[in-house]
Amino acid sequence: MDLDDFSLAEAAKLLSSGTLTAVELTTRCLQRISRVDEELHAFITIDEQGALQQAEHADEMRKNGEVGKLCGIPLSIKDLIATRNLRTTCGSKILEHYVPPYDATVIRRLREEGAVIVGKTTMDEFAMGSTSETCAFGVPRNPWKKGYVAGGSSGGSAVSVAAFESFASLGSDTGGSIRQPAALCGIVGMKPTYGRVSRYGLTAFASSLDQIGPFTRTVEDCAIVLQAISGYDPLDSTSVNRPVPDYSACLVEGLDGVTIGIPKEYFTSSLNKEVEKEVRLGIELLRSRGAKIVDVSLPHTEYCVAVYYIVAPSEASSNLARYDGIHYGFRDPNSQNLIETYKNSRSNGFGAEVKRRIILGTYSLSSGYYDAYYRKASQVRTLIVRDYHRAFETCDILASPVVPTAAWPLGENSEDPLAVYLSDILTLSANLAGVPGISVPVGFTEAGLPVGLQLQGPHFSEEVLLKVGFNVEKGLSLPKRTLYV
Ligand code: GLN
Repeated sequence: MDLDDFSLAEAAKLLSSGTLTAVELTTRCLQRISRVDEELHAFITIDEQGALQQAEHADEMRKNGEVGKLCGIPLSIKDLIATRNLRTTCGSKILEHYVPPYDATVIRRLREEGAVIVGKTTMDEFAMGSTSETCAFGVPRNPWKKGYVAGGSSGGSAVSVAAFESFASLGSDTGGSIRQPAALCGIVGMKPTYGRVSRYGLTAFASSLDQIGPFTRTVEDCAIVLQAISGYDPLDSTSVNRPVPDYSACLVEGLDGVTIGIPKEYFTSSLNKEVEKEVRLGIELLRSRGAKIVDVSLPHTEYCVAVYYIVAPSEASSNLARYDGIHYGFRDPNSQNLIETYKNSRSNGFGAEVKRRIILGTYSLSSGYYDAYYRKASQVRTLIVRDYHRAFETCDILASPVVPTAAWPLGENSEDPLAVYLSDILTLSANLAGVPGISVPVGFTEAGLPVGLQLQGPHFSEEVLLKVGFNVEKGLSLPKRTLYV
């Protein structure tokens, strides 16, 4: 039996029929990790012993009665979601030895289902980046082509799923960090509606934008994981108290009655031609399955990079003030007084990109500049939100590329932060507006690099996104085996 032939849903069936135990499945994943991860760097921490204990527990749970689909399924978790007694570094030296005394709500929910957490994945430091190259503990590699980026900031999560080191992963998406690495690694990644999934225990980057979501190999698996993590949580004041639908029930073939808008601003001349071709073929597929395709406009899209890179760093500068060498995290051992401790702990603990964001954010929030930057950005953010409302008057969801290009060689833009920021142009708006988005694989470039199709919808339209994504997947049946089988 070959691990690579199974989705999470299929593995769940093997577990429930007794063909496989959770311990066996987990052992297989751990073997895969030890074989490929030295090269792929999907993980910062691999919890072999803990995973096997959880798997034994899952097998016990199954013996004792009815269990959910995630019981005994090996998962990986981005290293900024708190896991009790398991190191959570946020990809930063400043939290190198931080071991949370509690579980994030999403982790608690996964554990209640009997899921097995095999380890914590590599990511850009504090989720700031688009290639995972700012991680202090190794850089994940694209499993489709040697020497190429995995995307970011949740690069390790995407790689671990694409390379069959885990059956699904949780990441966080503040400006594209789930959808973009999913697209670059040829898997499914969803950013749910802001408020759909609890952020309690997610290390805050930009609190008004952050959202946790799943990485999976199929849309059906995405529905299963989303089901497990969604729902109201009194511990997160922004989580929304609204019933969670049955996400698997919406996975049906045929798109009659669905209107899909194509935002013209997402198809500019800077869009790579091969990416455009695959995305347009994907849109034609949706048409052939019954969807009505209409043109729409999101006229303020061009401002989203400028707005995001004021709003996100501003919130980050405030959120990251807690890493001061006093409360917790790295403390510079050679400082003589309080001010030196602050200064040296932060200077030596944070990497260059995080410092750049803190400086940008502190500047745009400071008196005299607040009106010109932060307030102005907030106003333009409202215009971006209105663009979506208007577009959704004429269509149910939007279809577009996820990233303007396929994955690029490691190191290519590392000296040019602006070039990297610009690559986020197609994903940032969804976070600014709080709407959900999913990336589903739609094809490959000639060089063999995956291309994703992005679907965005109104608040709480996850069911429609899953249904349309499911139709893309069923209509294409793309290869899933990377170089690391
Ligand atoms: N690439 C964006 C940034 O660097 C988004 C990151 C994210 O979604 N966490 O901020």
